[in-house]
Amino acid sequence: MAAKHPELSALAVQLGEQWHGLLPGFHRLVFEGGHVLLTLCIGEVKVLLKEQSFEADSVYLAGVNWLQAPDICDPHLLTAVARCCRRGTRLASMMASKSVVDGLTQCGFEVSETTPMAPQGELLQASFNPRWEPKKSSAFNLPKPRSPARCIVLGAGLAGAACAASLARRGWQVTVLDAHAAAAGGASALPVGLLAPHVSPDDSMLSRLSRSGLRATWQVAKSQLEAAVDWQASGVLQRRFDTSAGLPKHWPEAGEHWSRLAGPDERQAVKAASSSADTGSENVTPALWHAAGGWIKPQRLVHALLATPGVNARYGVKIASLKRSSSAHPDGCWQVFDADGKAIAEAELLVLAAGFESAGLASTHAHLRLQAVRGQVTWGEVNDARALPPFPVNGHGSFIPAFLNDAGQPSWLMGATFERDNFRADVKVTDQLDIFGRLQQLLPHTAGALKASFDADLTRAWAGVRCVSPDRLPIVGPLDDAALPGLHACTALGSRGLSFAVLCGELLAAGLHAEPLPIEKRLAQSLLASRYHIAE
Ligand SMILES: Cc1cc2nc3c(=O)[nH]c(=O)nc-3n(C[C@H](O)[C@H](O)[C@H](O)COP(=O)(O)OP(=O)(O)OC[C@H]3O[C@@H](n4cnc5c(N)ncnc54)[C@H](O)[C@@H]3O)c2cc1C
Repeated sequence: MAAKHPELSALAVQLGEQWHGLLPGFHRLVFEGGHVLLTLCIGEVKVLLKEQSFEADSVYLAGVNWLQAPDICDPHLLTAVARCCRRGTRLASMMASKSVVDGLTQCGFEVSETTPMAPQGELLQASFNPRWEPKKSSAFNLPKPRSPARCIVLGAGLAGAACAASLARRGWQVTVLDAHAAAAGGASALPVGLLAPHVSPDDSMLSRLSRSGLRATWQVAKSQLEAAVDWQASGVLQRRFDTSAGLPKHWPEAGEHWSRLAGPDERQAVKAASSSADTGSENVTPALWHAAGGWIKPQRLVHALLATPGVNARYGVKIASLKRSSSAHPDGCWQVFDADGKAIAEAELLVLAAGFESAGLASTHAHLRLQAVRGQVTWGEVNDARALPPFPVNGHGSFIPAFLNDAGQPSWLMGATFERDNFRADVKVTDQLDIFGRLQQLLPHTAGALKASFDADLTRAWAGVRCVSPDRLPIVGPLDDAALPGLHACTALGSRGLSFAVLCGELLAAGLHAEPLPIEKRLAQSLLASRYHIAE
């Protein structure tokens, strides 16, 4: 197409750069700094439309001719299209056959005209104006789309920064409040983190969510951060300590963009750093190559997101309570207070993105089931790169062999420990031993080379507190839209905040604006805080 239209070639290049890993399901491609969004849904149209949740301004029913789109008159399909329309939604199609016109009319469209358009045929134009009140299916989004107004985001970590950026891009005036003296002072102060897709034989929700999240994070990294300094899409090798590869059995070719069995080169490179036969021989545990993986610095990502026009951040502000007030604003608004009861800010929308502390903040209004999981990492400067693998390796812990620390020195990082129900981010000497033990198991040769640094205390440590939900999936969206309108959460990013944050920010904003969702509706609904109400 672009070859015939050279004026489109620059746009085709932009599209081509993101046109990869398109497995069945939803894919969100981002252009113009997030101002142009393309949601590609791959699969059977009828099924996919049920998984969407938006109100279209206009619809184009594609399919060049009847033979190429024989299903288009299926009443169920046209009903599914109508479900995505509001009164006044316009529709156009080059399929102007009588059966299409009849089908559309039955679904509530008024066909206004059909215009001959050589050489394609006739252009049909219609508008959605049913004689009945259109029924809205229960959806991820709010009953009626919100107009941008004021928003408070509590927390300037990955979750808060991502929500702030997504909302500000849609016109909200966002105030981010954080108790720390600067952005990314909590778990998002991790010096550098790993991005790798989750894999599972049944391609579970977590696996699909992690791929959508990775795509979203890399899009921001590539457009707003500095390659090789802030991030690197190096690929990640995952050592498996059982005999399963973990991949779905019938993994389509597009899946190889994400994850595949490690090839001889990748296994050989890690063999050198592990000095163990089991990554190289035939009858031993398999390793996976996550081609779409890499490392990224969370703080840089947070700063880039908070720099979005329309976001203002205030630091050193610890919020103790929240209250909904209907007197301050006709539609009601949320006020936040410090420990002395002093009102700090008010807004029509309040997003809790305060990690584990979101539960305490919400507690007088709603029950958020969150758990604190403390963790520690160790890092040091690289003295001899020959003992290190050429790319990050995960499995039993994770090792990042080469990133530049704040002083510009090439450094390595090994993580991480897990300690449930501890919400204190203090560094522990015992954790250093745990981390060294993990390194010995993951990469024995590298551990041998770094032992002297561990023994002589030449390494540095950092600890933080993760926030997890009972099913290890994030919590995103309204807490209870009927009883607590305007109160949302974005938290429980667990050990994958770098994969989830940007996607969750977009999901929260898409739901508020009745835009197409970046992930399947069922997946989005499984991230709502209310999922636990049903289970309880
Ligand atoms: C050891 C360790 C290793 C990790 N490794 C990885 C990795 O390799 N890859 C990966 O993707 N993820 C990793 N993670 C997870 C990742 O760091 C988190 O998922 C992510 O940082 C969570 O971001 P957040 O914004 O939800 O929370 P936070 O970054 O903790 O932000 C919450 C913010 O809320 C503020 N706040 C809390 N209460 C209040 C209040 N009352 N008033 C005002 N402000 C408040 C805090 O000050 C804080 O800044 C790791 C985490 C740890 C601990």
